[in-house]
Amino acid sequence: MLIALCLLRFAVLPYYDNRLNAVLAAEAYPVSPAVREFHQTSFVADMHADSLLWGRELDKSRRRGQLDLPRLRAGGVDLQVFSVVTKVPWGLNYEANADDSDILPILFIAAWRSPATWFDPKQRALVQARELSRLADRSSLSLVLRRRDLAADGLRGLLALEGMHALGGRADNLDEFFAAGYRMMGLAHFFDNEIAGSAHGQAKHGLTELGRRLVERMESLGITIDLAHASATAFADTIAVATRPLVVSHTGVKATCAGARNLSDEQLRAIAGNGGVVGIGYWKGAVCDASLAGITRAIGHAVEVAGIDHVGLGSDFDGSITAAFDSASLPQLTASLLASGLSKAEVGKILGGNLRRVLDSNLPE
Ligand SMILES: [Zn+2]
Repeated sequence: MLIALCLLRFAVLPYYDNRLNAVLAAEAYPVSPAVREFHQTSFVADMHADSLLWGRELDKSRRRGQLDLPRLRAGGVDLQVFSVVTKVPWGLNYEANADDSDILPILFIAAWRSPATWFDPKQRALVQARELSRLADRSSLSLVLRRRDLAADGLRGLLALEGMHALGGRADNLDEFFAAGYRMMGLAHFFDNEIAGSAHGQAKHGLTELGRRLVERMESLGITIDLAHASATAFADTIAVATRPLVVSHTGVKATCAGARNLSDEQLRAIAGNGGVVGIGYWKGAVCDASLAGITRAIGHAVEVAGIDHVGLGSDFDGSITAAFDSASLPQLTASLLASGLSKAEVGKILGGNLRRVLDSNLPE
């Protein structure tokens, strides 16, 4: 039994972590000293990475997956949103998933997490929140819980929930999650839930009555609402009732990559009208061509339609994606964006200025 648990934690889990979160050995895009200097002095923020899920020691770089604190620092990142995944159906796909199966018990057992987390999405969310707090305690990472934390020096982290099914349909859990440090929440993940329909769910329904109440409560607490993975109906319903800026933390645009979870031009304009930000992802499902050129093209289209004040970065690093580069190589994207004809002021907004504006308006005092 002990041998089996050791094998799971020290061989099987690292193997799958590396395989599912691969970095392509692409030729490095040239970054001039001037561009590097511009990147390092810009406020750089990434809106979505699932790195907490895999049970890594993120303060050490073991070159597993796509992101850890040493690589974030090397990549000049100032703010990383750490998203928390709490349930993943078997046979995962982008078209239609039921919520009656769950891959994650294997991962939570393999990572030697508490048995309370093995079959319980809420406990998985609370444990990953504690793991991020402990990471901040033993490193120079600081957590963004209030508005003034945005202005801290060095690397900052913000905790986000991917899918509000983790609340188990109970409104009072929202306050418990807020107390645990959650400051951003995606309404749905890969299946419909009691709050909102998913773009990958079976019914793909809209925002429910409970969902409406929770949107209001999130706005009053200072939790930023994330529409990534939301069904088109839930997306429209939420924009209609929101009084604060929203985000779509990691997405693509249909104009450069058709697909169930990518945004139409109409949705891009709706986010612009709301004052929010759309984070463009780095993986195939978001941009089809997952090279720097493909990512730059999707960002360019989002800027063209939504406007320069409404676009940001949403890597989805460590979200079971294959990426052309890891978090240490982010200056390459800055170089590619500048080479596409955007000005430094414009690129600065995309790199993090826009997300900062939204968080500055939403976070509690
Ligand atoms: Zn996601």
